[in-house]
Amino acid sequence: MSGRDESKEQRYRCIECNEESNELYRDYNHGVLKITICKSCQKPVDKYIEYDPVIILINAMLCKVQAYRHILFNTKINIHGKLCIFCLLCEAYTRWRQLPGSSSYTNPEDLIRYAKEWDFYRLFGIAALEQTAYLMGIFIVLFLANLKPLKMGSEFALLFKALLLSSYGKLLLIPAVIWEHDYTPLCLKLITLFVLTSNTQAIRVTLNVSRTLSLFAITCGLLFEKALCYIQWTY
Ligand SMILES: [Zn+2]
Repeated sequence: MSGRDESKEQRYRCIECNEESNELYRDYNHGVLKITICKSCQKPVDKYIEYDPVIILINAMLCKVQAYRHILFNTKINIHGKLCIFCLLCEAYTRWRQLPGSSSYTNPEDLIRYAKEWDFYRLFGIAALEQTAYLMGIFIVLFLANLKPLKMGSEFALLFKALLLSSYGKLLLIPAVIWEHDYTPLCLKLITLFVLTSNTQAIRVTLNVSRTLSLFAITCGLLFEKALCYIQWTY
């Protein structure tokens, strides 16, 4: 939970209307706390500060703009780097499992051998390259769209963080591949769709842009990623 800001530069955002706010709640001594009301929309600036993290996560999974604003603007969550590495590991593992012959390692003791496989590291590198191409495609489109906050660089780090955080759906790749069944290919497609939807919402919330522009940016990101795949297969 985030409270009143200690530095004057730090600003929170109203999760309903995106208006800036100096504080999320006020402490009236004696332990009496009161949630700040937004001056613009007259609603609580951030109702989620009272909610259980599980409820917030469920709301984020439902792609609610308010939950995204709460996580990105009003918390100091700082796991995007680790999450990105973990998501890439999940992707590499998923691709590695789909390689011919890799499923023959059924003994749990072989798990350590997985990490030692050269193919696994190669696929990790490819996944990282594709992720970079995808992010580059998104950033290039948004720069070309001449968005002021992005041009000034103030929202660059936040957008980067938002895109990495909103890719958390890739963690679902592991259970989808481990519990393999007839519907696994469909599950993988649905996971990709979920990640793309989350990324679109992250762009919308961070830069306060239209759904059309964020969808266009995601599409271009995907095109960059596919172009890289094409180059890999060509050479
Ligand atoms: Zn408001």
